[in-house]
Amino acid sequence: MAAAESDREVPSALCTEFLNFSVKDTASKWLQVTDLYKEVYHHLARYVPKIYCLGPNLNPQSEDLLAQMLLQAPLEWYLCGEDPSTGLAKLEQNNQPSQLCGHVFKVGEPTYSCRECAADPTCVLCMQCFLGSVHKEHRYRMTTSGGGGFCDCGDTEAWKKGPYCQKHEPNISDSCQEDPLAHLSTDMIARCYNVFSVVLKYAVDMLTWDKEDELPPGLEPPDRSDTYYCMLFNDEVHTYEQVIYTLQKAVNCTQKEAVSFATTVDRDGRKSVRFGDFAFCELAKSVIVRNTSRQSKPLRVQVMHSSVVAHQCFALKALHWLGHVIGYSDALRRILCQVGLERGPEGENSSLVDTLMLCDSKMWKGARNVYHQLFMSSLLMDLKYKKLFAIQFAKNYERLQSDYVKDDHDREFSVTDLSVQMFTVPSLARMLITEENLMTTIIRTFVDHLRHRDLQGRFQFERYTAQQAFKFRRVQSLIGDLKYVLISRPTEWSDQLREKFLEGLDTFLELLKCMQGMDPVVRQVGQHIEMEPEWEAAFTLQMKLTHIISMIQEWCATDERVLIEAYKKCLTALTHCHSGFADGEQPITLSMCGHSVDTIRYCVSQEKVSIHLPVSRLLAGLHVLLSKMEVAYRFPEQLPLSELSPPMLIEHPLRCLVLCAQVHAGMWRRNGFSLVNQVVHSVLWLQIYYYHNVKCRVEMFDKDLIMLQAGASMMDPNHFLMIVLSRFELYHIFSSAECRKRYNRENANKDVVQQNNTLTEEMLHLIMMVVGERFESGIGQVEGCDEIKREILHQLCIRPMAHSELVKALPENENKETGMERVIDCVASFKKPGVTGRGLYELRPECAKQFNLYFHHYSRADQSKAEEAQRKLKRQNGEDTALPPPVLPPFCPLFASLVNILQCDVLLGMLGAVLQWAVEPSAGHWSESMLQRVLHLIGMALLEEQQQLENSSEDNDVYFNFTLKMSRPGEAPSNTASVLALLENLQNAPHLEVHEDMIRWLLKTVAGIKTLRERSASTSTVTASGSRGQEETACDKDKAERKRKAEMARLRREKVMAQMSEMQRHFINENKELFQQSLEELDASTSTSLDHSPASPDAALACVGPRRSRPREKRQVVTCILCQEEQEIRADGKAMVLAAFVQRSTVMSKNRTRPPHDPKRYDPLFMHPDLSFGTHTGSCGHIMHSHCWQRYFEAVQAKEQRRQQRLRVHTSYDVGNGEFLCPLCECLSNTVIPLLPRTMGSSSCEQPGLGQWLKTSGQQIKAMHSAHRKLQPVSTVEETVEEECPAPEVFTVDYIPTNPYSSTIKEMLTTFGSATYKVGLKVHPNEQDPRIPIMCWSSCAYTIQSIERLLVDEKKPLFGSLPCRQDDCLSSLARFGSACWTAACQPTVQGHFIRLLAALIPDPQVEASPCILDVDMLHLLVSVVLSYGSVHSQDSSGLSVDAVQLHLFHLITVAHMVQILLTSGPEEVTMEQESGEAERGEEEGACRLYNTLRTLVGSSLPEVGSGWHLWRCVKTGILPYLRGAALFFHHLHGVPAPPELHALCPGQWEVLCGYLSLPSNLLQLFHGQQELLEPLLHGWCTHPGIQQTLQGGGVLVSFPRESNSLIDLPDDYSALINQASSFTCPKSGGDKSRAPTLCLVCGSMLCSQSYCCQTELEGEDVGACTAHTFACGAGVGIFLRVRESQVLFLAGKTKGCFYAPPYLDDYGETDQGLRRGNPLHLCHERYRKIQKLWRQHSITEEIGHAQEANQTLVGIDWQHL
Ligand SMILES: [Zn+2]
Ligand SMILES: [Zn+2]
Ligand SMILES: [Zn+2]
Ligand SMILES: [Zn+2]
Ligand SMILES: [Zn+2]
Ligand SMILES: [Zn+2]
Ligand SMILES: [Zn+2]
Repeated sequence: MAAAESDREVPSALCTEFLNFSVKDTASKWLQVTDLYKEVYHHLARYVPKIYCLGPNLNPQSEDLLAQMLLQAPLEWYLCGEDPSTGLAKLEQNNQPSQLCGHVFKVGEPTYSCRECAADPTCVLCMQCFLGSVHKEHRYRMTTSGGGGFCDCGDTEAWKKGPYCQKHEPNISDSCQEDPLAHLSTDMIARCYNVFSVVLKYAVDMLTWDKEDELPPGLEPPDRSDTYYCMLFNDEVHTYEQVIYTLQKAVNCTQKEAVSFATTVDRDGRKSVRFGDFAFCELAKSVIVRNTSRQSKPLRVQVMHSSVVAHQCFALKALHWLGHVIGYSDALRRILCQVGLERGPEGENSSLVDTLMLCDSKMWKGARNVYHQLFMSSLLMDLKYKKLFAIQFAKNYERLQSDYVKDDHDREFSVTDLSVQMFTVPSLARMLITEENLMTTIIRTFVDHLRHRDLQGRFQFERYTAQQAFKFRRVQSLIGDLKYVLISRPTEWSDQLREKFLEGLDTFLELLKCMQGMDPVVRQVGQHIEMEPEWEAAFTLQMKLTHIISMIQEWCATDERVLIEAYKKCLTALTHCHSGFADGEQPITLSMCGHSVDTIRYCVSQEKVSIHLPVSRLLAGLHVLLSKMEVAYRFPEQLPLSELSPPMLIEHPLRCLVLCAQVHAGMWRRNGFSLVNQVVHSVLWLQIYYYHNVKCRVEMFDKDLIMLQAGASMMDPNHFLMIVLSRFELYHIFSSAECRKRYNRENANKDVVQQNNTLTEEMLHLIMMVVGERFESGIGQVEGCDEIKREILHQLCIRPMAHSELVKALPENENKETGMERVIDCVASFKKPGVTGRGLYELRPECAKQFNLYFHHYSRADQSKAEEAQRKLKRQNGEDTALPPPVLPPFCPLFASLVNILQCDVLLGMLGAVLQWAVEPSAGHWSESMLQRVLHLIGMALLEEQQQLENSSEDNDVYFNFTLKMSRPGEAPSNTASVLALLENLQNAPHLEVHEDMIRWLLKTVAGIKTLRERSASTSTVTASGSRGQEETACDKDKAERKRKAEMARLRREKVMAQMSEMQRHFINENKELFQQSLEELDASTSTSLDHSPASPDAALACVGPRRSRPREKRQVVTCILCQEEQEIRADGKAMVLAAFVQRSTVMSKNRTRPPHDPKRYDPLFMHPDLSFGTHTGSCGHIMHSHCWQRYFEAVQAKEQRRQQRLRVHTSYDVGNGEFLCPLCECLSNTVIPLLPRTMGSSSCEQPGLGQWLKTSGQQIKAMHSAHRKLQPVSTVEETVEEECPAPEVFTVDYIPTNPYSSTIKEMLTTFGSATYKVGLKVHPNEQDPRIPIMCWSSCAYTIQSIERLLVDEKKPLFGSLPCRQDDCLSSLARFGSACWTAACQPTVQGHFIRLLAALIPDPQVEASPCILDVDMLHLLVSVVLSYGSVHSQDSSGLSVDAVQLHLFHLITVAHMVQILLTSGPEEVTMEQESGEAERGEEEGACRLYNTLRTLVGSSLPEVGSGWHLWRCVKTGILPYLRGAALFFHHLHGVPAPPELHALCPGQWEVLCGYLSLPSNLLQLFHGQQELLEPLLHGWCTHPGIQQTLQGGGVLVSFPRESNSLIDLPDDYSALINQASSFTCPKSGGDKSRAPTLCLVCGSMLCSQSYCCQTELEGEDVGACTAHTFACGAGVGIFLRVRESQVLFLAGKTKGCFYAPPYLDDYGETDQGLRRGNPLHLCHERYRKIQKLWRQHSITEEIGHAQEANQTLVGIDWQHL
């Protein structure tokens, strides 16, 4: 209480009042009174305004605390009749919790459903329940919740199997039906009832209260203050930016405050933005209204009295409290439900629950959320009241939906969203249908909202405004509700259910009737339609209803009576639709081949036609269902088929199919265009696309085809075909007696000929489909899974496909979820993915014979791809390339007569005509695809006959005799050739070579059938299969063999070609090698492992020191990639440069908490061993002349300038920052490194020992000190009295050496130096800055270290395994480093050297030398060696650089050993200690050195007994350093490495030490020179930093430093989702983050892509990820966007790309966006690949390549992520 008081200023009078308040007294008073309602209201009226809303800034914590003390506590006391802390505990103890889990989902929480057991897809489990359920062993589905909704664990209706998890398993001893109230005393029940009534009534009163300045009766405050709030409400019209801008103007706040206001308004639905007197608030209101009313309706603002706001605040609190209290006991929950649903004084629908629901759309978002949650935890958790609530919900349904349509809040904030919780429960849904007529109500409400009709009463969506479109979208939620209601089919039908369902169906048919024929089109001729016709609304409606139509059929299928009734109703509706159509259509008579039929005159190309025919299609669906019924087999006469008029049935579907054909033929091009995804499509083309598309075809194209099949099966096939011909407007072509001579007569317009050809092709295809599509059960005699098997098979005939592609190609029904799994293995085999790509299904070879080229779901593109693939396959197998039709299953009885189409006269006439045209081709009046289709049709007919013969039982009752008919000559006038004769004729036609195999197959089949008929006539027991096989003679086999060989040869050629193109794709690498060859040949030093010929063949190779091997002098010649000229690398020659990319890096950091340095003041001379920030240099290895590169870069700059002027296009690189793409490989670069010749070693004369050298160098340094002091202006020199130090004679301090480099090289030295400086320190370029050389050395050291680590991680040998681009880069860096002092001021570089050396050899004149624990030794080595050049240039004593380098190297190595020993941890006890004799010396040495250190450092070093341990520490700890040093000296001097280091063989240690001129017992370095080194040791160990660091005062890095890895990820992706769902935004007080994003480098979870977590970085607003990268990754970041399952790469503020996540499902696919929901598991290989990119410093490069490949990535605002 004390804390609460200090938080805010409560007037002292109140304080005493509050302090004197007694909960118990108040409660006992209430227990006495009769009218509790009045008492409590009085209490609230008095206290609420004193607690809540006392000033501009609310203080929710103390408000809630006070409310708990003064308001809730007495209520609880009253409720329990005793101290609530004991009373509530008792309640909880006696409670028998419900078996429902009811866990309410947070946004982003993972939910699980079982594809096998869930009653419908809305049934989900929470993670805990899922893990304890049987379903985790099943095929489950994982999604993230959008918030709301709860776990269905324990709901027996939701699961076909396993409804309970282990935790919610019911205890069998419990009687589940027991009334929870039985445990409570009647007193308790009464009190509970009273208090709930009052509190709920109060909450409802306040939340639905709409007056701004007064309170409901009984709540008026005793003393009324005069304060108001200006309350801003949320709407979905205004954007964040608009609101923020307006608020800044209206209430004079900062942008930050405005953002916070806007965020709260968006989250809670309202927020007070001003507090004060009425006028003050009113002013703000008027500004807001004025500012937001220009384009739209203004933001809603109210000026409300503070007491009203106070009571509303407490009302919300009261609802929370109710939710909390009922959590103690199911009995309390039941009482609350009873209170809520009790009918109010106004009669029906006046309960408190009703009142809340009916006011829903008037309440603000926050209030809605709170009461919806209470409903969920009370009404929906109690099985008895859930039902009652569902009834009330259904009663109010129409009103609620209408309110929702008018409201502008998203559906998740509407009470209508609760429908899913009730309608999907099958028993409730059925109860609501039968008792509340819910199905009819929903459909009627839906129809009522669609008011646009044409004269015939059909829907009309022309002149469709944006607002109507918005409303229409909301209306669609009704379809969702209908779907819920129908989701589970009834297993048992009651008469009442039948009645109500059929009533609903009637209403539904009314809806469909309004759609039948809607949006009709008329073909335009002449001018284009300029305006874009509105078609989407009608089509959307169609799409949305697709599922409903399918579900209604499924319902009908479960009951024969319902089905027959539905069929009758649908037929009546169709007849009704057609009554309006027939007007004005004149009857005509068609005749052909001796048959004639009456029909109407109608041309699709001239009259109105509509693609929307839902009534016909529903009837088609029901027809198939009837056909499946037993009654169809036994008593077909009982079916209501007699009223049908087949020509009427087929008329409209046929027109629609003809329309499609005409659009394909290009006849409707003038009917307007539409823009979809930036591509212009003809409007009709789009509609037809959807008509065939997998989303719609089930209830569009498929059903039209079925209707044609149904109609045709009841008609004379000749009549049917003539009507088809007539509708295709091809009748005149085929009916004429001279049709076979078409090519003579018809010389019309070329377009028309083309059109007619296409139409003929389409028509032939249609006939094939009518006869051949038998895979739907009910049409053909097939099993349910045959259909899906065939669907998958045909997809895989196109090419191997991933699981997701197959799923996409299947319609959304139950097959999609589980059906595919059942059949996929019969048709396909699975191939696992590699590190990239995805797993693929391949067709099983034995399934290829079921391939049907004219599969009805193929698009033309699919068809030609499949044809090509299948022919290729056959060629590869050495077979002929005919693709004959597959054998088909027989028809069901209702459709059986369809086969007669194949042998009817009209068809034979058509076939004959096309064949005849093909025999005498001219003028292109026929097409090859036309012929191909005809051949296919003949094949179908032959197979049909063959099948019937094979299946007939001995006697000759096979009525189908195509072979007979095809041998008959054609129609009069003259005797034309028979179909068979024509085929034989065509067999050898040279222009039809492609079809040769097919024609041969046809003729062979004819022969086979003849044999079959003959045999069956004689023996009657021959099968056809045998006859086919025997025909293959030896000759055939020979031919096949030759063919196979030719095929093999062809394949080999193809393979070679493929390899070639693969090589071209890897252009970059190949080219690189090409260009590098010259360099490699001439420079023996680089990676070629073959050539390690040292100068003196006997001596071992050494890369440092006076005895270092001298490689033969060779000219280095390289080629410029830009001008292709060769150039020798010489100090005085033209400069050659390597494209390079310098970047800051934290990849090796051992301390990510170190804050970034202040770039202005940071001194980079010493690198801390934690390597927290480094500078990495990489190169693609491409070499250019410096002047060629300069010209190129200037051109890039100029181009970029022009581009920026013209249009604001972004590029993947930032020219202003010096970035460019390598002209050859397009690799991102930001500078160039000059190539320099190798340094020459001087001849080795007598060299000084360590002692001698220490003395000399000491003198030299002193000389430099005094020389440097002289250079400084006098004023800054304070201690001038230092004695003048005479320099050694041979050391000339003021000698200025001649610069050996040409001017272009000098220029490039400056270029690279200042680029490294600029990038590495993040500063503006400054060529004078003394830190430039330091940054270059440091970058060289860092790059070497990172490559050394990479080689260890990749388990590769130290030498010979690097790509040459890295070798070249390292050589250039090392040689550049040794030369860069020539471009800088010499005393500066000398100064660096002096300070560096002082870290090892104490120098009184250097202040603040670091302690050796704070120095990374490789950095020190590289810097000191490279800076020595500036000192050596003034030495003429003949002292060799090599000798000095070796001394420096030995010194630093000793220092590193000391460093390692100081930081080595205590011994691990479990280690095995077996030391061979050989290492005894090393161990003793290590012990001795360690003990020396202990005496110097004291007790901070633990005592270590075992030398074995110490030597191990030294050996493993120093190895990375030695390897780094070897790389460094190797590249500096170009000494080839010994062959042992080119492999991973044992004995590396000795070889490495030898190569580095070190004794393999490193401790000899110390003990051999002990008297010289001990003083140094003393100096190091007494440095104050040592004690401090060892005692925990700093970061203690131990050696060897392990390579950093990306964080460990869980194997199961859902663990990540779960982790992210409990992550809250760190800035907005416990809110869920919308885009939780995981840093894969350090494991931080961030709130990405959101306003709340934007911060300012260098003057710009950036999102959490970008901000994080600056600290964690020096600008480079690797993240996992958890909700999207997507990896995000970021570099700087402008670069980024998405990358495939390392999580795969069982099908070897990623799920970016988590749309598929398959369980995902970590793929270690892919994660390693990402890690490798990171360790290689290739993230930025990867982003560059991604952005170059996909320009849309460039436009994304990466910095806001
Ligand atoms: Zn659960
Ligand atoms: Zn459970
Ligand atoms: Zn299951
Ligand atoms: Zn050049
Ligand atoms: Zn390149
Ligand atoms: Zn991080
Ligand atoms: Zn946030």
